[in-house]
Amino acid sequence: MSAQLATLQKPLKSKSELSGIENLIRAMLKKHRTPFMLIKRCVLEKQYRRFRKCLPDVTPYYAVKANAHPGIIKTFVELGAGFDVASATEMKQVLSLGAMPSKIIFAHTIKSPEDIIFARRRRVRLMTFDNETELYKLAKYYPGAHVLVRIKVANDGSVVELSLKFGADPDQAFFLLRKAKALGLVPMGISFHVGSQSTNVESYLQALEISADIFEEAKEGGLPLKILDIGGGFPIQHFDNEIGINFERMACQIKKETRRLFDKNVKFMAEPGRFLVGPAGILVTQVIGRTFRNNKNYYYLNDGIYGDFSGMIFDHCRYEFKTLRRGQKFLSAIAGPTCDSFDTLSESSEIAELYVGDVVYVKNIGAYSSVSATMGFNGFPPAKIIMV
Ligand SMILES: *Cc1c(COP(=O)(O)O)cnc(C)c1O
Repeated sequence: MSAQLATLQKPLKSKSELSGIENLIRAMLKKHRTPFMLIKRCVLEKQYRRFRKCLPDVTPYYAVKANAHPGIIKTFVELGAGFDVASATEMKQVLSLGAMPSKIIFAHTIKSPEDIIFARRRRVRLMTFDNETELYKLAKYYPGAHVLVRIKVANDGSVVELSLKFGADPDQAFFLLRKAKALGLVPMGISFHVGSQSTNVESYLQALEISADIFEEAKEGGLPLKILDIGGGFPIQHFDNEIGINFERMACQIKKETRRLFDKNVKFMAEPGRFLVGPAGILVTQVIGRTFRNNKNYYYLNDGIYGDFSGMIFDHCRYEFKTLRRGQKFLSAIAGPTCDSFDTLSESSEIAELYVGDVVYVKNIGAYSSVSATMGFNGFPPAKIIMV
């Protein structure tokens, strides 16, 4: 019985997973200098298929801002994904890597005239907006553009708020869509974003109900809508033993509600960023120095807050620091390499004693990390990205 239980327990599986990752890290250390970030193609594929399987009615448009590395974009082009871009630069990048204009959404509600003109020239037709001024701008620079009104929805239970700056009042949605039509644009539907790393399925369900009401209102008003974009926000696990994150269960509830609330001919799309790329990234750093301060060991790594741990600031993220060394663990502090005391990554990590040259690595760090790193504050460059 106990033997059987032991084989059923998760730690055993993650242990073999772990040694797989650690063997990979050891092999890569022979060829590359740290810091480097490994992006596992097989995990990108796995996450993409997981998304498709759990939400079969919803077409995923990868939110490029999560990680714009060409190898990642290329992988998603090959998998047939669409792309969510926020600027002409991102648009140019995905187009140059083979994305089709018809599979791109320009999902920024405030676009510069130059970027709108660029979208028009490259025939990227679908875009979001959330205010009247933007409609006049779109009508001027891109007559005939297909538009989704982004509505403001609750971001409760998400780690990163995305509704403070964007989103029209749902009461205004139908008015704005009618206005779009009057101005010569093509009103296609609605989009929303429940906030990033949203573990609260209720936010999605509520947003779906609000959207369904607007679909109904529009249909009765003679302006039937075709597309519902449920945004991003799908959560991932950052720590091995984290609880409360269950994408499969969330997706199942979302799927049920979309089927219950909307006509069969409505097309659903989503803009997952973190979910598709976060779990694929492994950051590998090395200890460049250590000291004893405040009654604990301080380890200084060759990557920090100004580099690939920038997500600790911008993404409000916490990471699990792992080492290749085994043995007794001690309460330790971990810091980045720059001269700023702010560049401290953890005051209280339980890790084995480390020496100069030892590896500290972090899993699930593929999203909102390297994209927000500075180019080399203090002369410390961010990690090289390596697709494996
Ligand atoms: C950031 C963002 C996304 C991606 O969000 P995730 O939480 O990474 O899935 C999608 N759409 C829009 C409009 C965004 O701003």
